[in-house]
Amino acid sequence: MDELKKMIRDIPDFPKKGIIFKDITTLLSSKKAFARAIDTLAHRYIEKKIDLVVGIESRGFVIGAALAYRLGAGIILVRKPGKLPYKTHKTIYELEYGTDQLEIHQDAIEPGQNVVIADDLIATGGTIRATIDLVEKLEGKIVECAFLVELEFLNGRKKLDGYPVFSLLKF
Ligand code: AMP
Repeated sequence: MDELKKMIRDIPDFPKKGIIFKDITTLLSSKKAFARAIDTLAHRYIEKKIDLVVGIESRGFVIGAALAYRLGAGIILVRKPGKLPYKTHKTIYELEYGTDQLEIHQDAIEPGQNVVIADDLIATGGTIRATIDLVEKLEGKIVECAFLVELEFLNGRKKLDGYPVFSLLKF
């Protein structure tokens, strides 16, 4: 995994001063690293009868779609407001400054379906917490929340009330 960690590029002061942005595009563009990352995640869930992977806009779509394909599962898109065409459920969540919103189609998940939620990175945990709420609203069964990267020093897991979390690369 150390080799995969090296494939992630640090961009200081992006998108604003004081943030070190973990740029995963350098990992995604490597055929070996991308395959290793997705295969490792898929291996974790292959026996778990996953029905759906829920990907969070937008880098979560890349991870989520590849993972869903490997698992023979469907992919559900959780998106920023106004992007999904059909009726949606919406959740509002706190950011460092202000709030943000995410939406899911109202008929995206059938009650009891086995779901993995996927995103590129967990930082403070606000985004995944909001997505968990959307999946719970539709009564999906959350098997795990899967990330390529976890910024452990931000303690995002603490927000998740014990929902299982797996991250491939920890910083
Ligand atoms: P959070 O809600 O704080 O856990 O933030 C997670 C979301 O913001 C993910 O969708 C990430 O893509 C993005 N994000 C937050 N912090 C960073 C960072 N340092 N580098 C790259 N992406 C980040």
